[in-house]
Amino acid sequence: MKKELKNETKLKELLNESGLNLIAVKKELDFRLSENFSLNEFKCRCNQCRIVVINVDHIVKLQAFRYAIGAPLHVASAYRCEHHNKNIRGAKNSQHMFGTATDLVCRTMSPKELHARAEDFDFDGIGLYSSFIHVDSRGYRARW
Ligand SMILES: [Zn+2]
Ligand SMILES: [Zn+2]
Repeated sequence: MKKELKNETKLKELLNESGLNLIAVKKELDFRLSENFSLNEFKCRCNQCRIVVINVDHIVKLQAFRYAIGAPLHVASAYRCEHHNKNIRGAKNSQHMFGTATDLVCRTMSPKELHARAEDFDFDGIGLYSSFIHVDSRGYRARW
């Protein structure tokens, strides 16, 4: 379900509803998505697109992970518009384009340790890179 929203108040109400999982939000907004994550961190890093796609279930999993880690998790990359994904040579059907993927860095933990800890959570895809980990909610299991 996809819905474009005009204002922050309405969005907050919708985030609290159970049925709505995929939300497209205007890029100029910012607000807290969960206790430790804000919309700003999830925006596409290009200057051309105007919306942010947020998958609520994925944010819920990220917050659970954040609580368990007990230290700040820096969002290196989250939503990417098609244009930006192409520019940085992301995978053709990258989960980042659907708001279901997040690349994370933790200053108190190596990517390898963080990658191992992510296994205890409900992420579908978990990937290890030299300076960050990728976690996603693609709907089926994937590991690399
Ligand atoms: Zn973009
Ligand atoms: Zn990623």
